[in-house]
Amino acid sequence: MPISTIDTPGSYRGRIAPTPSGLLHTGHARTFWMAWHRCQVASGMLVYRNEDLDPLRCKANLTDVALADMRWLGLHWQEGPDVGGPHAPYHQSQRTNFYLQAWKKLLARGHIYPCRRSRKELRDYAQEKGLDAFDPVFPEDWRPNDYDREVPSPNNDHAWRFKVPIGKRVVFVDRNPLVGEKSYVCGEDFGDFVVWRRDNVSAYELAVVADDAAMGITEVVRGEDLLLSTARQILLYDALGLAPPAFFHCPLLLDEEGRKLSKSLGSRSIAENRDCGVDPIEWRLRFQEDYDALAKGIRI
Ligand code: GLU
Repeated sequence: MPISTIDTPGSYRGRIAPTPSGLLHTGHARTFWMAWHRCQVASGMLVYRNEDLDPLRCKANLTDVALADMRWLGLHWQEGPDVGGPHAPYHQSQRTNFYLQAWKKLLARGHIYPCRRSRKELRDYAQEKGLDAFDPVFPEDWRPNDYDREVPSPNNDHAWRFKVPIGKRVVFVDRNPLVGEKSYVCGEDFGDFVVWRRDNVSAYELAVVADDAAMGITEVVRGEDLLLSTARQILLYDALGLAPPAFFHCPLLLDEEGRKLSKSLGSRSIAENRDCGVDPIEWRLRFQEDYDALAKGIRI
């Protein structure tokens, strides 16, 4: 393995976890290819998990497109929605019971509380105080003093937030040497975050931790835009008494103006490239070159 350490051969379990809320673009392709590649090098098992958590944004036809995109790219996996496996179901929309169990554990251990504050309220508050209004830190004094801990299950009445240990530093060493050691302070870099949404759906942070743990994932490979999420997720692992996996965060692909590619900016999708007859071998070669550069410590 040219880059950072990897688990003992054969014990590696990786995953790719596309969200079918829009067409996937080249940036997704490169990150998922790197996840697949690291798993190949480690002779590991790869799980394809369909992250269709959000019932409003995710569409079944986009799940099919994402699977076809990944197959076109030449990726293959040992477990997934199309091939089955011991950890089925592989659609997050069908795994609510796993998330509920985790929610119950967090409630019983006093880690979460109900919250009726809206995102807008939080943004307005940050703006008023001259703080970061893009990803505002939830103010500590908005925590309720008391609340009912006998709630049998979440409902549409309010969201649930995780109470972060204020002042605690979350430190982890990324397996991508260009990322290296990361350190975030709870209450400064991020505040109490939502684990269960007001529309009665598990939030991304909780679902991913519950799934990665249940599926025995040993290394999570994903985009650098999720570094802060990793810090939050490490807190969740700790609160649930689970060991976190290793992490490898890939650099994001940027457009000519230096903006990250995104579904909302209308970056050209993998599906469009497929339809135009682009040869996936060209992509694979480019991604391999990028990965080899990373291994040499060169920013890509
Ligand atoms: N579902 C996310 C995506 O489509 C990835 C989340 C993760 O890897 O934890 O980019």
